[in-house]
Amino acid sequence: MTQNSACPLLPERINGLGKLSMNLYWSWNPKARMLFKLLGRMRWKESIHNPVKMLSELPLGALEKACKSPSYLRLYDEVMAEFEAYMVNTSRWFDAVFPRPQKEPLIAYFSFEYGLHRSLPIYAGGLGVLAGDHLKESSDLGVPVVGIGLFYPEGYVHQRLTEQGWQEEHRELINYNYLPIEKVKDKAGKWLIVRVPVVEPAIYVSVWRVQVGRVPLYLMDTNIEVNDPWNREISARLYMGDPEERLRQEIVLGLGGIAVLKTLGLQEFMVHLNEGHPAFALLEHARGLMERGLDFEQAKEYIYRTSLFTTHTPVPAGIDVFSYALMEKYFHPYWEALGLNREAFFKLGLNPADPNAGFNMAVFALRMCHFANAVSKKHLEVSKDMWKALWKDKRPEEIPIFHVTNGVHVPTWVDPKVGLLFDRHLGRDWLERHDDPRTWSNIQDVPDKELWELHIWLKTKLLNIMRERARRRWARDKVPASVGLAQGALLDPFVLTLGFARRFAAYKRADLILSDPERLKRIVSNPLRPVQVIFAGKAHPDDSLGKRILQNVFNVAKDPAFCGRIAFVEDYGEQTAQYLVHGVDAWLNNPIPPLEASGTSGMKAALNGVPNLSILDGWWVEGFNGQNGWTFGVETPTENRDMADAEALYRALEQEIIPLYYDLGEDGIPHGWVAMMKAAIKSCGPTFSARRMLKEYAHKAYIPALMALLAVVEQR
Ligand SMILES: *Cc1c(COP(=O)(O)O)cnc(C)c1O
Repeated sequence: MTQNSACPLLPERINGLGKLSMNLYWSWNPKARMLFKLLGRMRWKESIHNPVKMLSELPLGALEKACKSPSYLRLYDEVMAEFEAYMVNTSRWFDAVFPRPQKEPLIAYFSFEYGLHRSLPIYAGGLGVLAGDHLKESSDLGVPVVGIGLFYPEGYVHQRLTEQGWQEEHRELINYNYLPIEKVKDKAGKWLIVRVPVVEPAIYVSVWRVQVGRVPLYLMDTNIEVNDPWNREISARLYMGDPEERLRQEIVLGLGGIAVLKTLGLQEFMVHLNEGHPAFALLEHARGLMERGLDFEQAKEYIYRTSLFTTHTPVPAGIDVFSYALMEKYFHPYWEALGLNREAFFKLGLNPADPNAGFNMAVFALRMCHFANAVSKKHLEVSKDMWKALWKDKRPEEIPIFHVTNGVHVPTWVDPKVGLLFDRHLGRDWLERHDDPRTWSNIQDVPDKELWELHIWLKTKLLNIMRERARRRWARDKVPASVGLAQGALLDPFVLTLGFARRFAAYKRADLILSDPERLKRIVSNPLRPVQVIFAGKAHPDDSLGKRILQNVFNVAKDPAFCGRIAFVEDYGEQTAQYLVHGVDAWLNNPIPPLEASGTSGMKAALNGVPNLSILDGWWVEGFNGQNGWTFGVETPTENRDMADAEALYRALEQEIIPLYYDLGEDGIPHGWVAMMKAAIKSCGPTFSARRMLKEYAHKAYIPALMALLAVVEQR
């Protein structure tokens, strides 16, 4: 493996920066980020926090200057020492709870998308960010995970709104030179190319490697010369709409992914499927075992005992189901390789509740994996009900699905200044102990003034960034001023500010708060106790209903009747999410239950002292404790649920939330509100962290599955 070609020649004294820039470790370590930022603040900003890009564009003078700065070198030495220690440390949590003689077996984690950082745009939303957090926390805890995914050179969709508020999509073509990725080389030093097994005509992938702390992530790219043009396009973009294109992506991810692991010399591993898209991995896993002498039933049994499927979808429509005709086209040679006939093969993915629909990826995964989990308590109930046809003779409590509620990677999502506040009051090692509730009890002792002033600073930072973006849009694209104003140029950091940032899917009801425009006008324009609402989020390119909801929101933001108190931030992504979850006052969430399987953005907000104002759904059913935020909405569905929920939201705002926010003490601080902020931090920090989540995955699935795997390996 070689360094990315774009890495410049660095002065000897600080040449570790090259290696650091190629390991996403830097992205969740504020001191490491500072090392890049100090080389040139504006360049850092202009690179959109991409050290690979920044280093490749930096004039040599800036690097030489840094080499002469004693304080820079001191920080450099400190960061590099910590980085080296992090990378070699072998006494990690996982090794302690699951001692084993060798490095193998490993956990092969498959996901369609990974949201690791803005500079590696191969994700669309929540599922990807969760997968990214999973890898980061695995690295921190020493869980031996290897990530597998696809590389999407045209993957990322940026959002821009027209004057009329209609969403337009702009695809970002990836500049390979500016990414923290390396080509994986074969023994001869050439870029590794692997054939996707069995399927004809042949599809090849080349392999990139991303280093996520200690965890490697392998990304397969079909855009290589040996592929015919149609196949070169397979991995071009994330979430293709056409079923055949989607099937071809899933074939590459699943079958190709296992082939890549084998080529890399990984022999013993369990499989963790993040959602159903990569489930074909299990087929190729079975084929490999059959090459080692097992028959299909034995291979299936082995896979059953050692594989985990995580379902994220609460509705049947969210699951990929491929027509039998399409499956036949691609899998004909494959079922023969497994020693199966057409019927036996199709039976693996047949949903008893809808047998004619086709090959159901979730049903297939549920049949093949002993370990299967939903992503919150509520989602577990929904999942059991959704899949009960697979277990006709079992009562709900006997259905073998468990739940692991999602969590967020704390070092990634805590604002660095909030992190420093925790350093001062929770003890400097709080991050090491952050999934222990006792770590957080001292949050009570943080002076209200300190937390409140920091929060106002973060809110101001958010509003400054919004204004800067609005300014650029106005100056560069010559949009009318009203469009700039609608993007938040008029917001005030001292006004109660709600944040609503999520995908514009209809069930999330972004426009719920707009249901009664007159009432909302009165709320936002109250001269004594005004309210602001910041919206952000993308609609799926093919979702015209979502786009119309977005347009409606944008038009309200543009409408002077709402006094410039409503804003829409374009192009929601990892970076915008960071600013929003750190900077607003309350995090609004109002999906139609039970359609939010978990949700994670509210966890990010709570960790930073932003209480949730949410319908009881997903993680909030477990998260809400009466002190750390608010719930609203009808409990049993009524005919006009939207109006009833909107009414409940207005009432909560008017009667509880607004009064609490504006109830200032003599010192100008809303102490009741700050108490709510503290309760949010305290309840969320330990429980809704990726650390708690990973430990739960380890105990409920990874360790039992690896033990089953080791037992088989020993027999051989
Ligand atoms: C956390 C996050 C999400 C997930 O948000 P939910 O709506 O709560 O599921 C989506 N997109 C980005 C960019 C995120 O950071």
